[in-house]
Amino acid sequence: MRAAFILGAGLLLANLVLAQKTDSLRARHIEDSLNDIKAHLTEYYSPIPPVITPGSYSYSTAPSDAIILFDGRNLDQWVSTKDSSKKADWILGDSVMTVNKKAGDIQTRAKFTDFQLHIEYRIPANITGSGQARGNSGIFLAALPWYPGGYELQVLDNYKSTTYVNGQVGSMYKQAVPLANACRKPGEWQAYDVIWTAPKFNDHGILMAPARVTVFHNGVVVQNNTTLLGDTPYIGQPAYRVHGAAPIKLQSHGDPSEPISYRNIWLRQL
Ligand code: MG
Repeated sequence: MRAAFILGAGLLLANLVLAQKTDSLRARHIEDSLNDIKAHLTEYYSPIPPVITPGSYSYSTAPSDAIILFDGRNLDQWVSTKDSSKKADWILGDSVMTVNKKAGDIQTRAKFTDFQLHIEYRIPANITGSGQARGNSGIFLAALPWYPGGYELQVLDNYKSTTYVNGQVGSMYKQAVPLANACRKPGEWQAYDVIWTAPKFNDHGILMAPARVTVFHNGVVVQNNTTLLGDTPYIGQPAYRVHGAAPIKLQSHGDPSEPISYRNIWLRQL
């Protein structure tokens, strides 16, 4: 009798735990679906920027007054975003650095305000995936320690591969569509040249001047003194929150496609 009671109570408890687990899985599924819907609200598919074949490009060396952020020899100028006391744990080889998806984002040790930035990247020739899951990375022109982590200039493979136009390569993510798609083929080196004017705040934290950005992608202007409405979230609207000088961050995106590489990164303070 007693054993039957214990067995019954045990079964009831197991059922309750199972029901709770199922409920929490269902709740998570509903939350994921809602987040997908919310994310889609800020994605646009037209008009599609014209596809341009960029001119030929030769390896660009840094001018004499540039701060060298990466010349292929070491990652000394970079730290882990998760823990800035730790060195950047990306893969160094053949004078390039390659995203280590397990290690997460990396950012510069130094902080900057207004600057001219040169950076080169390569989508692997054997890239797989589609849309946002194809060679996704990004350059956060000011990395901020709160969601969404700053202002992202998108890096993605859009050579004969499409996605929402405000999230394709050359976009300020979900905020400013590029003026052209000047993508090179996967396997080829590509260059961004950026002029970044950081937002300015007064002593009371009031925005006095929004951020502005000009971007050349493989020598083709894709952002022409674009005024930003704020940071670049995946879900929701851009917003400003007061900040000062900030690191530059490179994104280790969570998609399963092959990781991309970077080289020849330098900056001139303005
Ligand atoms: Mg990205």
